[in-house]
Amino acid sequence: MKRHPFAAGGPPVPVIGQGTWYIDHGDRATAIAALRRGIDLGMTHIDTAEMYGDAEPVVAEAMAGRRDDVFLVSKVLPSNASRRGTITACERSLKRLKTDRLDCYLLHWRGSIPLAETVAAFEELAGAGKIRSWGVSNFDVDDLDEMLDVAGEGKITCNQVLYHLQERAIEHAVIPWCEAHGTGVVAYSPFGHNDFPSPHSKPGQLLQQIAEAHRATARQVALAFLTRRPSLFAIPKAGSPAHVADNAAAGNLTLGDDEIARLDKAFPRGPKPRGLPML
Ligand code: NAP
Repeated sequence: MKRHPFAAGGPPVPVIGQGTWYIDHGDRATAIAALRRGIDLGMTHIDTAEMYGDAEPVVAEAMAGRRDDVFLVSKVLPSNASRRGTITACERSLKRLKTDRLDCYLLHWRGSIPLAETVAAFEELAGAGKIRSWGVSNFDVDDLDEMLDVAGEGKITCNQVLYHLQERAIEHAVIPWCEAHGTGVVAYSPFGHNDFPSPHSKPGQLLQQIAEAHRATARQVALAFLTRRPSLFAIPKAGSPAHVADNAAAGNLTLGDDEIARLDKAFPRGPKPRGLPML
């Protein structure tokens, strides 16, 4: 499993992690077995959120006895992200996750509470050892600029954003911004949530062709493309140990420049949209 820090000097994070949205909707024991298998295979970055129903308690059970192996991320809802509300929300998440700290705490998306309040709370939580770092999610460059003004350089460790083969809007400005400021880019919904290219489509056939050349799967090729630069990470959600194992193998797959160029052409980036797409 390849690993890079979000920013220089930070702890190494596996390029392929594990999402947990809707993980509480299937069989609980299978979900826990899947997350554990992922940790065994090096997918130690686990992404959850106060918004994800019962996902935090499922993660707690999966991490039992091996908290130190995990890079644990949770998120505060924008409606809770006031100075006091952020601290209360974090403490609630810590309790549900049965841990004393998060490795990274994110503002889920930009809301109406001033960023200065959320940052002040993040810094207080960091000072108390309850979070090791913090970041943002669904932030476009104007929001990132504003956050940088509030917090200063070197504070925004990552920006978690929608990124998959059929949705490459962040390549226009968000990735360049993050690379310029040492902020990791975490691709959420890397399989398009539930919209992975069909093997019957032309682009889907190209994925298959490249996969066969590497004795890999189409999903592994997609994840390798999405994590092709050191600034890029992905957090697929998988509900079974078999799917988790499939995804983990992408952490050792490197595509050639020609393969990247062919995928780039088959899944065009498209024009820059006015707003940042999000789920
Ligand atoms: P996703 O990871 O793009 O896709 C999940 C779907 O892919 C599930 O139906 C899953 O099925 C299937 N799948 C996974 N691995 C597979 C494999 N190897 N073979 C076949 N099918 C496979 O969707 P997502 O859950 O939307 O995104 C991932 C994570 O990103 C979320 O769980 C969440 O942690 C995060 N996220 C963050 C935000 C945000 O606003 N910050 C928004 C959306 C998502 P099974 O469950 O059956 O394995």
